[in-house]
Amino acid sequence: MSGEPQNDCLFCRIVAGEIPATIVHETETTVAFRDINPQAPTHILVIPKAHYENAAALAAEAPQAAADVLAETKAVADAEGLDSYRLVFNTGSGAGQTVWHAHAHVLGGRGLQWPPG
Ligand code: AMP
Repeated sequence: MSGEPQNDCLFCRIVAGEIPATIVHETETTVAFRDINPQAPTHILVIPKAHYENAAALAAEAPQAAADVLAETKAVADAEGLDSYRLVFNTGSGAGQTVWHAHAHVLGGRGLQWPPG
């Protein structure tokens, strides 16, 4: 069920402390940690602690948590000293989503091209 921790969800297990991650910041409702396979000098994932399968479900079912995630991306970017950065929410397998727990990618520290692939 949306919002409830899922035993088979990697990011729920990071929230629970069962799988190690390089956590850079945590709030009551969010966790930010470094991506294990960084695509830029700064590549941080910001997730809601509650489980929603992607950004679409998060926005529809928990708009306050979605706002918390967005606010946290700015806090993380500020802490990393990023003037320019990109936020990505891969939503659905066709868009490259591989982990089914909503997450924002915060990418920065190098020039980023547009359009993305
Ligand atoms: P997405 O493809 O948008 O679903 O992004 C999932 C991201 O999670 C990828 O960038 C992965 O590198 C990252 N990832 C997978 N496992 C871990 C982990 N254990 N710790 C940190 N990041 C991870």
